[in-house]
Amino acid sequence: MSQPTDLRDVFDLGCPACGQANELVIMISTLARVTPDGSEPEGDHEWDDTSYCRCTECGHDGTVGDFTQTVSDAEKASDAKLHGGAQ
Ligand SMILES: [Zn+2]
Repeated sequence: MSQPTDLRDVFDLGCPACGQANELVIMISTLARVTPDGSEPEGDHEWDDTSYCRCTECGHDGTVGDFTQTVSDAEKASDAKLHGGAQ
């Protein structure tokens, strides 16, 4: 059984609240080329563990560090739920 690629596979990111890992909003740092006409993003962008992050599904927010979740973390979490973890 093959599963579609999600954020956990690619970035080790997933929502710790609802488990969703298809779409997150992350505050990025980037350069901008600023002229009298306005500003245009320039070059690459980046984020780190302290960048703001929000789940588009349930609205849970925090930092990228809070959302860092490997595939095995997610499996452990769902195992805990199956075995009646008190949450
Ligand atoms: Zn969520």
